[in-house]
Amino acid sequence: MDMPTETSTGALRRLIEGFDRFRGQHFENDAELYDSLLEGQHPEVMVIACSDSRTDPAIICGARPGDLFVIRNVAALVPAYERDNRPHGTAAAIEFGVAALGVRHIVVLGHSFCAGVRCLLEHDHGRDRFAFVSDWVGVAQEVRDEMDGLVTEAERLLIARRAEQAAVLLSLRHLATYPFISERIREGRLSLHGWYFHFGWGTLQAAEGPRGPFRQVDPGEVPRAASG
Ligand SMILES: [Zn+2]
Repeated sequence: MDMPTETSTGALRRLIEGFDRFRGQHFENDAELYDSLLEGQHPEVMVIACSDSRTDPAIICGARPGDLFVIRNVAALVPAYERDNRPHGTAAAIEFGVAALGVRHIVVLGHSFCAGVRCLLEHDHGRDRFAFVSDWVGVAQEVRDEMDGLVTEAERLLIARRAEQAAVLLSLRHLATYPFISERIREGRLSLHGWYFHFGWGTLQAAEGPRGPFRQVDPGEVPRAASG
């Protein structure tokens, strides 16, 4: 077998160097934090984000270890509640974060130029190549139908950005179909937030309600919940 080349191992080397920096700058300098994390995790915020390498919620929001319970999947989608005794990875992580850890906030974090949402819009393209992705983004079928209904040229130009935001809103509505979530919202113990990171512009927007609209978050501002 060939030895790995410098090119093929360079990306991994950078990760190990990054880990060494993390140890030196954080782990060894913040013993109090890491000692407390040994006893357990108590994150107040769950973030549901896309797997896209450009939108790591811990990096873009400057979170520390223990701050965020993170779920990532293609296009940051939440399926509607469904109990069919089949394994549901995203639902399992949501249940654990809410029912076991008691997070106070759930943030669905969408982003610009999302390949998952593009796949949703282009439905039948690539179904052969991306069978699992095509099935998965079908969770947001409602968004596809909504976008198909847009007719003006201006709307068509903006359709991808609109669809990305509509997918965030649909995921918020799907979250509310989980009984353990709706119960906690009613009791004031949990709130849902829809955020949208436009990495071309370097801006963050937040949904003002479960059906939008999205508004830019100003520096220092804490956006209000979309529901709860
Ligand atoms: Zn994405």
